[in-house]
Amino acid sequence: MDLRSQTDECLILRSREFQEADRLLTVLGRRLGRVSCLARGVRRPNSRLKAATLDFSYSRLQFAPASRQAAGSAGSAGGLLLVTQGEALDGLPGLRADLNKLGCAYYLGELLVLATPENKPQENIFILAVTALTLLANLENEQEQFLVLKFFELRLLGEMGWRPNLAVCSRCGRPVRLPQAPGRPDFFVAAPALGGLACPRCCQDLQWSTGGGPAEKARLSRGCLRLLDSLLNWELRPLLKLRISPELRQELNACVWAFLDYHLGPAAGKARRNLQVYCDI
Ligand SMILES: [Zn+2]
Repeated sequence: MDLRSQTDECLILRSREFQEADRLLTVLGRRLGRVSCLARGVRRPNSRLKAATLDFSYSRLQFAPASRQAAGSAGSAGGLLLVTQGEALDGLPGLRADLNKLGCAYYLGELLVLATPENKPQENIFILAVTALTLLANLENEQEQFLVLKFFELRLLGEMGWRPNLAVCSRCGRPVRLPQAPGRPDFFVAAPALGGLACPRCCQDLQWSTGGGPAEKARLSRGCLRLLDSLLNWELRPLLKLRISPELRQELNACVWAFLDYHLGPAAGKARRNLQVYCDI
């Protein structure tokens, strides 16, 4: 990393108190990627950095390398930055004024920390995160908030190179075509280990190794497949107009979470359980 002072647009993903009046922040920078930084004196009442370093603020921060001593006492193996100046571009106060939204924002932040490596710029993920958090801050309809979360989860998978293939069975290549009539023995299941879906025959051959859990539970309906396809391909605004039944919502959650759990590990489930303390998503 460049050791001179540098400025970047950042999202504050999480923070914790440090020493007497400081905070240690994890931020996602447009050009820097995910970095750890130290905001000195920010817990003092008149700190000029306060607004720019609140959780989930979208801010322009200026950094300098932190001293080796500061990095050591913060438990950082190296690469800790010191925030020298900050300006809140959009504090996104709507996120902190509503417990549901705050829960969603923490969840998004946790997924970003899990999915992104440190110090690796990923501008598309930065834009995705700013878009999702800005919408969450401003949307009052609970179903729209749910769709923003699902959009974020699936697009994050895509940006990490794990976009689920919904067109064919990921093992045998058979096209995914589901019959209109429910109850027919033709079904596909989420198979994260294969990168997409598995047909009934492959599902039987593979038993539990598809990564999607018990096949009986993970059968995808036509409606769920359509919704997954829309979430992966449509613009966000028209998506928000979709109406979803509670059953479809459950099915969509089970499928998306199977992919997230497979790629991000048990910590993704933990982040989700923390979210469910705040809201019913
Ligand atoms: Zn197959």
